[in-house]
Amino acid sequence: MTVPIIRPVFDQAELDALTACLESGMVSQGTRVADFERLFAAYLGKGDAVALSSCTAALHVALLALGVGPGDEVIVPALTWVATANAVACTGARPVFADVQPETFALDPDAARRVLSPRTRGIIPVHLFGLCADMDALAGLAGEHGLFVLEDAACALGSLYKGRRAGLLGDASCFSFHPRKVITTGEGGMICSERADILRTARSLRSHGCRPLAAEAPAWAMPEVPHLGYNYRMTDLQGALGCAQMAKLEDILAERARIADVYAGLLRGTSVMPPLTPADCRHSWQSYVVRFADMASRNAAADRLTRAGVQCRPGTHAVHRLGWHRARIAAQSDICPAASLCEDTSLALPVVHGMDFATQQAIVSELLNA
Ligand SMILES: *Cc1c(COP(=O)(O)O)cnc(C)c1O
Repeated sequence: MTVPIIRPVFDQAELDALTACLESGMVSQGTRVADFERLFAAYLGKGDAVALSSCTAALHVALLALGVGPGDEVIVPALTWVATANAVACTGARPVFADVQPETFALDPDAARRVLSPRTRGIIPVHLFGLCADMDALAGLAGEHGLFVLEDAACALGSLYKGRRAGLLGDASCFSFHPRKVITTGEGGMICSERADILRTARSLRSHGCRPLAAEAPAWAMPEVPHLGYNYRMTDLQGALGCAQMAKLEDILAERARIADVYAGLLRGTSVMPPLTPADCRHSWQSYVVRFADMASRNAAADRLTRAGVQCRPGTHAVHRLGWHRARIAAQSDICPAASLCEDTSLALPVVHGMDFATQQAIVSELLNA
């Protein structure tokens, strides 16, 4: 068999949207990006959305809009994609790693509390693999200490936390449209917030730090540039894809939930631990990540799956052990052992739209060496 870990859900709608965009001759940021932003904000139901070239760019700009810079510290979970910590470092601030709860793969509020310092400015909870972090506890901690909460919702489009949408649980949130995520525009990201100041700064910084032109300015006017900014714009080709993908979002989420249910049934009573699914949260199933008792059995299973043609990966990496970040941590011992354990014993299984029961059964039997 040949099973990719994920396959984007594209059909005639994406082809038509791209064709119309190409035929219009308008391919850089324009009306289609604005349409995607409107659809996205309407889906969340509150606040507004600003599209960028990636979620990493979104995190970078959101942190700058929150006033983060040199001398500041921002708490990030040690288990996440490296982008979460890199975005903090790119502002000149220091990412401070806190450990995770292995059952949920999410930032442990007690661990976050232990790394607070007078320089701490905020917390970035990550809704890893699509399950929301313990937002009540983290928001409580942030409230006590006057910290911002920036959600890394890269994996969490459609996720719910106690009935509330991921993306509306902090000061701002960032989403990703990389092909591994719930919907994709090839590359792409979004900042969502209910705060006008954050949205305004984000719109400026994604486009060189320009100030928007006044409504009465002549058509030939050039903008003033009051800030130091970037070119982090999304293209209209990506915006067109985003609009077409938003129309499929609920179908994609339902299909991913169906596949996750089948895996859970097949894994019940085996030595492989299926991911936790708390009753009061809706998982987006961006990744279906199982855990093994130890690294040797995870590695053996990953080898068997690979030989069988099934693509798999560890859930994600423990960022505090990656070279650039490791070199900036003073401690000699592992400061976040649970994150390391999760990297070493986890495995993400394929979640491919339309995959049949027999394929999932074959994957699980390779996994269990049955
Ligand atoms: C994918 C991902 C990112 C980065 O998203 P890009 O759009 O690829 O920049 C950040 N954080 C998490 C948790 C992710 O999974």
